[in-house]
This record gives sequence, C-alpha cells and structure tokens, in this order.
Amino acid sequence: MSIDRDQYLIQDEPFYRESGGEVKLFEAAYAARLPVMIKGPTGCGKSRFVEYMAWKLGKPVVTVACNEDMTAADLVGRYLLDAQGTRWQDGPLTIAARIGAICYLDEVVEARQDTTVVIHPLTDYRRALPLDKKGEVLHAHEDFQLVISYNPGYQSLMKDLKQSTKQRFTALEFEYPESDTETEIVSRETGIDGAMARKLVDIGCRGRNLKGHGLDEGISTRLLVYAAHLIQHGVEPRQACRMALIQPITDDTDIRDNLESAFDLIF
Ligand code: ADP
Repeated sequence: MSIDRDQYLIQDEPFYRESGGEVKLFEAAYAARLPVMIKGPTGCGKSRFVEYMAWKLGKPVVTVACNEDMTAADLVGRYLLDAQGTRWQDGPLTIAARIGAICYLDEVVEARQDTTVVIHPLTDYRRALPLDKKGEVLHAHEDFQLVISYNPGYQSLMKDLKQSTKQRFTALEFEYPESDTETEIVSRETGIDGAMARKLVDIGCRGRNLKGHGLDEGISTRLLVYAAHLIQHGVEPRQACRMALIQPITDDTDIRDNLESAFDLIF
C-alpha cells in the first residue's frame, strides 16, 4: 500500500524564533543523519522547533505523542482484521522510515522502556527496523531521522530513559526564551501589543522563580500565548492571567496568592 508522503509535509513556514544557534546545529545533525534529543521544560518551543526544521529542510515529519500505554506495535505496526482477511498496517515509526521523514517522538519518557527499545536499531549504523511479525527488515530511507523530546523535569526513578537509549542521541538543551525574545514570540503569535506581551512575560518570569519552591514547572511560553489569546478575545488581563497562567499550574492557594500579588505591580 502506498503512503501519501505529502500529507506529512509542512506547507507554510511555521513562526520560530531562534534562541542560540540551534538551527545550524540541527542542520548539521540532519546532514549526518544523527538522532537528536530535544531537552527542555514543557511548552518552551521544542515541537515548534521540530516543525520549523522539517519545513526548512523540506522533509515530512511524522509526530507521535508518547504515552505509557503505547506498545511497540503502536509504533511499528500490526496485522488488522478486515472483511478481506488480515492486512498489515504500518505504525508511524515504520511510515517515517519508509518515506524518509523526520520521526518526532514527543515526550518519549512517557513510553515504557520496553517500547522505547524498538527505536534502537534505527539509531545506529544499521538504520534498520525489524518488523518481526511481518518477517521483514525495513532499511530506513536515506532521509529518515529520529528526533525525540524529553523533559528532564519529569525525571523520576520510574520514568527515565535508559542510558543505552540516551547514548544513542545527540542533544539540544532548550530553556524558556529570554524576556525580549519571549515578548516577541507572544506578540507575533497572537497580535497582542508589545507592552502587554512584556507584562505577561514578567508574570511568567515570576512564576518561573517559584520553580522548586512549590511549583514543579514554571509558567510556559505556551501558557503566555494562551493568556495573550484570551486578552485578544476581550478577556480582562487579570482574569486572563488567572485562567491561563495560574489556575492550570497549581492548586496551592499560597502560590496562587503569591502570583496574583504580582498583578498589582504589573498591571
Ligand atoms: P513544547 O513542545 O516544548 O512543549 P511547543 O513547541 O508546543 O512546546 O511550544 C508551545 C508554544 O509556544 C508554541 O505553540 C508557540 O506558540 C510558542 N513558542 C515557544 N517557543 C517558541 C519559539 N522559539 N518561536 C515561536 N514560538 C514559540
């Protein structure tokens, strides 16, 4: 069965604001077909970066949101039963290896380790994927590349990548963009004026300072973009910040009060 490669191409240039040379580094890794791990907190631009790089390189991208119920068959493929009998259906990893796409496994740490190991033979010199049930060894298309995202904040004894998996990847470390860049991002993404975007970023920075002091993760760029969208749709700024920046990240009333106290200074 032929696969429609075009459906995985990014047609329009995604807006991506570079932070520190990551575009060139990724291009070099792609040229050498090295697997890349993108590390960083949630909502800091990892997925947007992969989308942008796929567009820039003109390659299709197959994205998989990983979760703990995901099995190796969900990635590789399985036989399905239909009216005509059984037929093989490629999983997303197999599709990417066949058509020469960038396969982006988002939040790979969520997947169980016995699932993650199926990517191993694709990450070394073999660049092959054994489809055991089908009795086929798929040799990856020359354009295929494996990219994973990984949030070190989620790390725990139960959920972490094995060293044998980590050591198959090069890694780019992402952080929330610095204030001027983040202000530009919030403004470009939503059309909100620069002064209001700056205020949202200031609240974001305040939230990030509470990381480790009652907050597991700071306020992400994604949430700042949400707040700006709400304001653009007529929501009063404090209300928008409550809804997008504070309520999603904590149930702790002290921390909520602490963050809300910033409103009087900022607005
Ligand atoms: P992650 O994959 O790290 O969880 P995303 O890539 O989905 O986060 O980013 C969340 C949102 O933040 C994006 O949809 C975009 O609006 C914005 N964003 C974050 N960083 C950037 C950036 N460098 N350039 C453009 N937009 C960004």
